[in-house]
Amino acid sequence: MDIKQLTKKCSKCGEIKFLSEFYVDKRAKSRRQPSCKKCAIKWQCKNKEKILNYAKKYREENKEHIKRCREANKEKSKEYQKRYYEKNRERKLEQHKKYNRQHKDEISKYLKQWYDDNREKRLEQHKKYNELHRNEINARLRERCETDLKYKLNKNISRMINFSLKGNKNGQHWEDLVGYTSGIFMAGLYGGQAGSRPYNPNISLGF
Ligand SMILES: [Zn+2]
Repeated sequence: MDIKQLTKKCSKCGEIKFLSEFYVDKRAKSRRQPSCKKCAIKWQCKNKEKILNYAKKYREENKEHIKRCREANKEKSKEYQKRYYEKNRERKLEQHKKYNRQHKDEISKYLKQWYDDNREKRLEQHKKYNELHRNEINARLRERCETDLKYKLNKNISRMINFSLKGNKNGQHWEDLVGYTSGIFMAGLYGGQAGSRPYNPNISLGF
């Protein structure tokens, strides 16, 4: 093939360059823009305002036409987007994963910050959710009480200690307050000697 067919002279800088150095212009006879990419970009940077204004003017003057085009291509573009998504799904997921791995520290820092900043909002959402789903939540909790002995014990002891501290438990776990765990407690209750009730000298449990 003649090298001339692969090259073109830039109308701006006058240099002879490979066709790949020119942007495609489907309307042009040569199928390429008259000036090379470098010159085209230079021109765009220099005329940014002008280009933006031109585009704005075009949009304003052709509102109806643009709307009709968009309407006519709605289904087509929807279909295209769907196909694009399906075709690139795996790749996008992989990209996403890679990004997350690379920015792990930043992301967890950001999440923690967000968590702290939105504490009030979170609590409010939580409250709202609980109010909305109260029945399901209660049913789940009741079921768990029936099937999960440790959970039931935890819950009852927590409630009793809160009661005997007259509401001053302040969200602390009862195991931290009392100094032994439900496991020891259960061993004492169900596996240990009768009457081997755990003893803590610091707190009067009231039961
Ligand atoms: Zn050029």
